[in-house]
Amino acid sequence: MIERLCVIGVGLIGGSLARALRAADQVREIVGSSRSADHLQRAVDLGVIDRFDTDPARAVKGADMVFVSVPLGAMGSVFTAIRHSLDDNAVVTDGGSAKSSVVADVRRALGTIPPWFVPGHPIAGTEQSGVEASFPELYQGRRVILTPLPETNRKAVERVRAMWEAVGAVVRQMDVVHHDEVLAATSHLPHVLAFALVESLARMSGQREIFDYAAGGFRDFTRIASSDPVMWRDICLANRDAILAMIERFEEDIAALAGAIRERDAERLLVLFQDAKTARDAFADQQAAKPEEDDR
Ligand code: NAP
Repeated sequence: MIERLCVIGVGLIGGSLARALRAADQVREIVGSSRSADHLQRAVDLGVIDRFDTDPARAVKGADMVFVSVPLGAMGSVFTAIRHSLDDNAVVTDGGSAKSSVVADVRRALGTIPPWFVPGHPIAGTEQSGVEASFPELYQGRRVILTPLPETNRKAVERVRAMWEAVGAVVRQMDVVHHDEVLAATSHLPHVLAFALVESLARMSGQREIFDYAAGGFRDFTRIASSDPVMWRDICLANRDAILAMIERFEEDIAALAGAIRERDAERLLVLFQDAKTARDAFADQQAAKPEEDDR
């Protein structure tokens, strides 16, 4: 049971955690914080938080659990703002989609990695954002990756694990660098490709005609290009090296595919598409047992 939860960034991710903990009767009071009093008042009206303070330093006072779920580019300023205001028993965790950058932000803000900080990332989401898009079932059956550091207190990790398990999530641990590489491959590269494809088509002359004739394939491949541009700008900057490594690898593979098309290499094309289909079908079978996941 959390006595007082402070959620900094009451959007899709923070709002959904607040709603889920409340639905599970796992929290006594929820305090919200972000830049806009209007957004926070909306969160109160929706019953997501009990009260708010736009000053994060005041908002965290008396909280035994703090969840930071702002865009990655804002993590550093939040940790700087709250560093002297946390209660002695407070545990702080975050939901940022890249972990090395958040750890670096914390180290910069505090000069060290404190034992009470547990970096985390819920592998769940939608292409919507804001508190209106939040819902209590978001984390049911979804994975949450915690990336504790050597400095992290084990009891703090257990409290964060218990919080996520209370809302139905399946918690895994991973080291920070591995997390960022895995997410660059499985989530960040696909998002970059979807944004790039839609932007490229949108710039083509006669694009209205192209979108008129676009159907299921286009919709399936590009849904994630409706995701929040600020969030994705921040993810690309925060996980720059791992994403660039994946883009470079992909550039080689797409060049090889273009080569096979250019050379009319039917056999090579068939092998490539068959391998991809086999891998995708296996993934789909594995997913059939679970609800659809959105991993960012
Ligand atoms: P969101 O719905 O846009 O919510 C972001 C929240 O942060 C808003 O409440 C916003 O409120 C607040 N905020 C923005 N800048 C701020 C600042 N400088 N100081 C304080 N508050 C600020 O975004 P989200 O989808 O919940 O994403 C939040 C975090 O979760 C990001 O780090 C993202 O990488 C991560 N994440 C997202 C997903 C996903 O699918 N969306 C999945 C996993 C992890 P104000 O405008 O009022 O400030």
